[in-house]
Amino acid sequence: MSHYHRRTKIVATVGPASSSPEMIANLLDEGVNVFRLNFSHGSAESHRKQTEIIRSVAKNKNRNAAILGDLQGPKIRIGDLVKDTVELINDSEIILTIDDNKPNSETCISVGYKALPKFVTKGDVLLLDDGLMRLEVMQVDESDVTCKVISGGTLKPRKGLNRLGGGLSAPTITAKDEEDLKLAIELELDYLAVSFPSCAADLKPVRDALNQANIKTGIVSKIERAEAVASEDTLRALIEASDGVMVARGDLGVEIGDPQLIGVQKKIIRFARLANKPVITATQMMESMISSPVPTRAEVFDVANAVLDGTDAVMLSAETATGNFPAQVVRAMAATCLGAEQHPDVKITKRAVEETFYGIDTCIAMSAIYAANHLYNIGAIICLTESGSTALLMSRLESHLPIYALSRHRVTCRKMALYRGVKSIFYDVTEHGHDVYRSALETVAAAGQLVSGQRVVITCGDISGSGGQTNLVKILQWRGSEEEL
Ligand code: PGA
Ligand code: MN
Repeated sequence: MSHYHRRTKIVATVGPASSSPEMIANLLDEGVNVFRLNFSHGSAESHRKQTEIIRSVAKNKNRNAAILGDLQGPKIRIGDLVKDTVELINDSEIILTIDDNKPNSETCISVGYKALPKFVTKGDVLLLDDGLMRLEVMQVDESDVTCKVISGGTLKPRKGLNRLGGGLSAPTITAKDEEDLKLAIELELDYLAVSFPSCAADLKPVRDALNQANIKTGIVSKIERAEAVASEDTLRALIEASDGVMVARGDLGVEIGDPQLIGVQKKIIRFARLANKPVITATQMMESMISSPVPTRAEVFDVANAVLDGTDAVMLSAETATGNFPAQVVRAMAATCLGAEQHPDVKITKRAVEETFYGIDTCIAMSAIYAANHLYNIGAIICLTESGSTALLMSRLESHLPIYALSRHRVTCRKMALYRGVKSIFYDVTEHGHDVYRSALETVAAAGQLVSGQRVVITCGDISGSGGQTNLVKILQWRGSEEEL
């Protein structure tokens, strides 16, 4: 079980290369913690079926794997082309048109986004296909945007269109997203990713729908618009309104430029951790493994640096959805995370030493981590949790010790699969009465590698099983199972 002590979690996108029960089982064995369903592809029926497959395979393996649905959002795309592909030649002129009556040609390409001429001006740089090709806007009239090709290439139909610096705005939740939101609620997905929010208010329709359905699905905001990171206040408010965030480097990198993205990735991760929210680092992490059985060293270091930045999870997109080596890429990623976690900076926290805590649960979580990091011969941290919030708080602080989070709610167990350093175990506290500490210790010992004599830090609330706040931290010693005694 090589992924046993891995703290950083792996999100894998499911697609044609990974949809079968056999491959889902392989990916779980290699260490996937969260499966991403991309609503940009597939039908409601295929997502229903996929959800069923993932849940039944995970159940058979007794694994808590979360499912993250990803709304397509208002991604701006070019339309169909006159041919299968069109060559964009450097310095040549092309027209992007919103006029449906204008015939498509190799130099005239339709765009469904009707507001395009309103939002661009002469001198703007437009990027096609995640920045692979660049255009400079020369002239704008009512329906046509005339551009010069700065950096050409082979254009395929329906590729994404971004403006350097952002500013192409469209409502965050499209009609398609509304349908997919209903599906996510029907399937009770653990997380739902909202694409292209520019501020906290953009999440409101999704939050309202989830509240109305009285469902525990967590909202993951994909940070992929220049506006979302333009001011620290906007970014903080967006993170605060979310249950987790994604550094969606594909679109964000195109909008703000890769040199800017380096610092912005670190900032998003830092802000998310400070706000006690989990964070996923995504896109092109091991891109070459779509067609190669081994990653490049640059990719290994990219994944490793995200781990050192403090990300909860690293994500695979096409690598597992359509690539040739889905199981191998997860294995390579898991090994890379483990390697990065050996770095001493990852191990001990200094955060919060001089802070005042306002919540009892926060104080308990911090005390537990402090005790665990400073007391001799600690084997594990155990957290009895209803909603998972104490486990999340603990996992915002680095420790080299595993945090075993025990919950009697399946959805809590699955959601905690995303939290760095947290190993979730289904455990019904109401079935253990007065012997809860002993049985919790036995449960963790059975799942892990507690050595007789090791101490354990355990946190819980007043043990009634009725929820309520965590208010107790206790240190116990594991003396082995009854059989060993
Ligand atoms: P996408 O989002 O793959 O849905 O575009 C991730 C990203 O933009 O990085
Ligand atoms: Mn995106």
